[in-house]
Amino acid sequence: MAGLYIHIPFCKQACHYCDFHFSTNQSTRRDLIACINRELELQKDYLHQEIINTIYFGGGTPSLLSAEELNKIVESIHSIYKISEQAEITLEANPDDLSEEKLKELRLAGVNRLSIGIQSFNDAILAFFNRAHNSTEAFNSVARARAAGFDNISIDLMYAIPGQSHELWQKNMELALSLHPEHISSYTLTIEEKTAFGQWAKRGKLKGVEEEFAAHEFELLMNTMSTAGYEHYEISNFCKPGYHSKHNSNYWRQQNYLGIGPSAHSYNGVSRQFNVSNNAAYIRLLHENKIPFELETLTPENKINEFIFTTLRTSWGCNLNYLKTHLNYDLIKSQGPYLKNLQEKDLISINDERLLLTHKGKFLADQIASDLFVVS
Ligand code: SF4
Repeated sequence: MAGLYIHIPFCKQACHYCDFHFSTNQSTRRDLIACINRELELQKDYLHQEIINTIYFGGGTPSLLSAEELNKIVESIHSIYKISEQAEITLEANPDDLSEEKLKELRLAGVNRLSIGIQSFNDAILAFFNRAHNSTEAFNSVARARAAGFDNISIDLMYAIPGQSHELWQKNMELALSLHPEHISSYTLTIEEKTAFGQWAKRGKLKGVEEEFAAHEFELLMNTMSTAGYEHYEISNFCKPGYHSKHNSNYWRQQNYLGIGPSAHSYNGVSRQFNVSNNAAYIRLLHENKIPFELETLTPENKINEFIFTTLRTSWGCNLNYLKTHLNYDLIKSQGPYLKNLQEKDLISINDERLLLTHKGKFLADQIASDLFVVS
């Protein structure tokens, strides 16, 4: 089973924190969508006819696509690839795009999961972020999606925001839960250099929150989600039973995937491909029937480190047996004393050949993973 990712690199306006690849200039949209369809054809052999069980429209803002544009891409996908009848088809959407009409179009195109970029239910925070929606639109979008028949909805929420109190964060989570989403993805606000916030930080106009502040909000997040019956299946992801994101879980389970569109990544177990993060260059090269990507062949060390990094963040943990049999690496033998130390500090547990983070260890996930990396 494999995954397909389509990157739609356009947004109405630039959110101040965002460093994904997107453009607010939509003048090349028509051309770019044609190039996405062209790339789908050119990449038809990448997955070696594997059956695709997840399709994910990300961005950017895929909910900007017209019915005609979306249907054209969906038709191309179905005519070129083998798609499972039960495929999870997710589309990232912004609340302000989700009119009744749009939701109907998405259902007709086969989208069966929405990932709604709400981020916050507080209007002051949304304005600070330069989001295109307000809290009323956020609430209404979920209600409309339900009425349109969507029964698998994910909400994005951000925390560790300068100026947002712990009380406000708690209230935000309660508001999100009042909508009963099947899935919640929640990330700390990170201030990236090339964003508006990055520029503000450079000029001393903005300061990120302290680590301790962020850690307390993570604790609130874990406790609130657990009390509400959500499974914490990946450091930043929570779901009602049975509603894991299949697409993202495929990434974390080292399944193959093909990424189409500017800045999209692909993985086939041997190498990674990174498409150019530039709309004009992408269009120019596709017009010459060239796929504009950089290739990174994975070394044995890369594979081990990626496996440790991604699986340690999940509730199924890092499979030590898989490391031994598939990647020829005995973690216990190589890192025995360090692992014992982590166990004594109640940061990890080892059950059935699986290395798992404890509640306490989840606060140090990245640090623990990088300490376990193989250095060549
Ligand atoms: S957060 Fe989403 S909507 Fe905002 S600029 Fe980034 S990709 Fe666009």
